[in-house]
Amino acid sequence: MPGLNQKSKKTVWVLGDQLNRDFAAITQATPSTHRVLMVESSAKVRSKKWHIQRAHFVITAMRRFAQELREAGFDVDYRKATTLSQGLREHRAEFAPSSVSVMEPASHAALTMLQRNDCDIVRSNQFLCHYEDFAQWKEQLLERRKTFKMEDFYRWQRSRLNYLMTHDGEPETGTWNYDSENRLPPPKDGKNQWPAPVAHELDDIDRQVIEELRDHCVGQLPTGLWATSRHEALQRLNHFIDNVLPAFGPHEDAMVSSSWHVAHSLLSPYLNIGLLRPAEVCDAVQDAYRQGRVDIASTEGFIRQVIGWREYVWGLYWAWMPDYAELNKLGATRDLPPLFTGNVPTKMKCVSQVLTEVDSHAYAHHIQRLMIVGNLCLIAGINPQQLTDWMWANFVDGAEWVMVPNVVGMSQFADGGQMATKPYASGGAYIDKMSNYCKGCHFDRTKRVGDNACPFTTLYWDFMARHEVVLGKNPRVAQQVRAAFKLSDLPEVQERAQVVLQQLSAGKL
Ligand code: SF4
Repeated sequence: MPGLNQKSKKTVWVLGDQLNRDFAAITQATPSTHRVLMVESSAKVRSKKWHIQRAHFVITAMRRFAQELREAGFDVDYRKATTLSQGLREHRAEFAPSSVSVMEPASHAALTMLQRNDCDIVRSNQFLCHYEDFAQWKEQLLERRKTFKMEDFYRWQRSRLNYLMTHDGEPETGTWNYDSENRLPPPKDGKNQWPAPVAHELDDIDRQVIEELRDHCVGQLPTGLWATSRHEALQRLNHFIDNVLPAFGPHEDAMVSSSWHVAHSLLSPYLNIGLLRPAEVCDAVQDAYRQGRVDIASTEGFIRQVIGWREYVWGLYWAWMPDYAELNKLGATRDLPPLFTGNVPTKMKCVSQVLTEVDSHAYAHHIQRLMIVGNLCLIAGINPQQLTDWMWANFVDGAEWVMVPNVVGMSQFADGGQMATKPYASGGAYIDKMSNYCKGCHFDRTKRVGDNACPFTTLYWDFMARHEVVLGKNPRVAQQVRAAFKLSDLPEVQERAQVVLQQLSAGKL
């Protein structure tokens, strides 16, 4: 009987960030033997105040992937349920699959949920380095050394994956890392013609998802900026290689008011939900280098971000979770200020610029995240878990595995130095050097006291003095701690810092 045949199929469950036909569980499935399950969880949608472009991106991409699988002949059970577990229960009740297989998920909580629900969990191939291999690499290194850092991991990845390497196992050009060439400030010639991102027309699926989400999300509505299918994501990749990559490297850390994207790839969202795979992206970048279309500094800088930093963060997440997410070693207890959560204006031009861009595009590039948003929260003593949550909800490429190490470890030093060797704190001088934000700002980046003192400069010195006990022992910042105590006006700086913090918390800075 057809009904019995239908019921005897196995199920492969595709989670919302596993949208690729080459990922482990789905590659083992065929339309004649497997039914595909996909679940939209209303609890997940309502779990945070999501930026609508983030929520739309994931849900629309899921619906398009289901369509793609149907076109490939699969019977897809795409269901909306209160929770993922409930969706699975309903699916089992309706179809009685002989087994449910699913690729390892991207979060600790999801792994627990799948184990509880008796799923067959297939080893993930979403990353180039599985987290178990990362753990083994780390252990072997720590047998010989006391510490490990991203650069060690990156060189190991480069060698074993054979990116930009000679046959003798040496880096091509003789240099592993072009970071020093990729830290230039904004161009002085006034260049502002950064290649515009590709966009597409919204269709009925987009409009339907937007209607479903608009009442309980924040941020500007989707405009077609973010691709929601593999076909469109590949177009974005080609656009990056042809038009953006040659300018990627030198100004990687620069921030300019005239461009929210500068020469960043804008590919991280697609990597994070599977529309693109890290190997195909790095292969395309390496090919462009081999064809002489891009220089070594931009090529190496980009490949380092993907096979180095991105995979390192993934490995650390699994090595240190779940306790790591709750660390708060600097005792930062101030609530996230209203300018993050309440659409409150601020006279800090740098912060206003970045938060406006996040509202418009659900995106800020890595230096804006680290040295504007993260830096402000670090030196103001904002609770790191609240910041993690905000970034996770507001960035189109947000995910717990990305945000926890990047915020708790890298940006907020809330792990006491387990991940980063120093806190990434700065005053207005660094922001002025790496951006053009300070021109025309209400505040004066050179002043640390007075009504128009730059809040970053004031809070930077106050932060160094406030955390003397912890930071005074850190060789990378001890000198700045000593410098803080040599300031003749330190008491006035500390007094001004209290005013700044009160204004920040009141939404009046
Ligand atoms: Fe930001 Fe201070 Fe520069 Fe103003 S002066 S843009 S607050 S760093």
